[in-house]
Amino acid sequence: MQYEFYKNPLFRVYAEIEDGCLTMKTGGAASPLMKKVLKANISIFDGEKPANLEADRLIYSTWMPPIPSTGFDRLVKSQLSSMLGKNIPDQVTISITEDCPNNCIHCALPDTKNRAKLAPETVRDIVDQVLEMGTTFVIFDGGEPLTYPGLEDLIRYVDPEKAITGMFTSGVGLTEERAQSLKAAGLYSLTVSFDSAYEEKHDYVRGRIGVFKSAVEAVKNGLAAGLLVNIYVVLSRDNVNELDELYTLAADLGAHELSFYEIVPTGRWMDHASEIMTPKDMRKFDSFVSQAREKEGPRIFPIPQVMRTTGCMAGRKWLHITPEGNILPCACIPIPYGNVHRDRVKDVWKKIRNDPAYNAKCCLMRNPEFREKYLKLLE
Ligand code: SF4
Ligand code: SF4
Repeated sequence: MQYEFYKNPLFRVYAEIEDGCLTMKTGGAASPLMKKVLKANISIFDGEKPANLEADRLIYSTWMPPIPSTGFDRLVKSQLSSMLGKNIPDQVTISITEDCPNNCIHCALPDTKNRAKLAPETVRDIVDQVLEMGTTFVIFDGGEPLTYPGLEDLIRYVDPEKAITGMFTSGVGLTEERAQSLKAAGLYSLTVSFDSAYEEKHDYVRGRIGVFKSAVEAVKNGLAAGLLVNIYVVLSRDNVNELDELYTLAADLGAHELSFYEIVPTGRWMDHASEIMTPKDMRKFDSFVSQAREKEGPRIFPIPQVMRTTGCMAGRKWLHITPEGNILPCACIPIPYGNVHRDRVKDVWKKIRNDPAYNAKCCLMRNPEFREKYLKLLE
């Protein structure tokens, strides 16, 4: 079976699966030249384990439209246009509500306690605007998005020919019936957050007893409903010693993917800039990733490693909307460049793109110079 990544009359890129991993191949008269031009893009996939294989499509990652699909074609177009200097927010996270039953110590939302929400018509307007701009992944986020009445209507609103939809959840409230209703609405991937493989520790970080059990149930219910399930772990100095246990948990539950991010000093964690992962912690993570690739179990998406190649996504590939309607370069940079209640998203995107800070190689929120210059503006 061949999975077509890209095809024009002179050049094609496709993958074959060998021993459960992708082998990238090219063909066509322009192949010798194009292979060199696109070497870096193609090598990202080569030798990688996909999140899932279906009869006629390859799910490389829960973060990416299936291959082939019209959404994936749009993503390829976006990659090509970014090579020519025009960036598109491929991924847009919409924090539809601030409501959340949990109280995590590292929550990216500031403690406003105002429980802001975006009205459904505002969310639909944002979706229209970003799909028009070329976005291929719309993520409903919170707060806890499951508390938002009419979440399924919003998911249904996203045209699956243009973008996939995802949802980030703590798992609280994701019953069997709710998982089925999200699947029926067209949800593509479900991302459930875990801070620890141990119940007590997870509940401590989440600020409430019972969240671990809910997260486990959410993964099971999502899988039973036929959703693609991603387990999302924000790595910190605390849980970096639990990497093997987290992998075992994800594998035992049958998740399709296990994604790792790195703790960012923002929101409730804003004053903890000195408590980020150390180089030693990162070496531990790198060694875990290379070993886990050989294991039976979910695909690993090691975002800190990927970013070493791609650079920081803020304002370059990613745009975030807060429950107040503020438009941010990423969910962790609390600097509003505009607001959906008065600005068009594409104008705000242009404003962000005109700021040279948003072509960064490393995380801006962990960069002392950026923090000094930009966060001061918020004081
Ligand atoms: S991190 Fe997520 S689950 Fe935790 S308090 Fe914040 S919004 Fe709620
Ligand atoms: S600033 Fe960049 S690396 Fe840091 S959280 Fe935002 S997108 Fe991620």
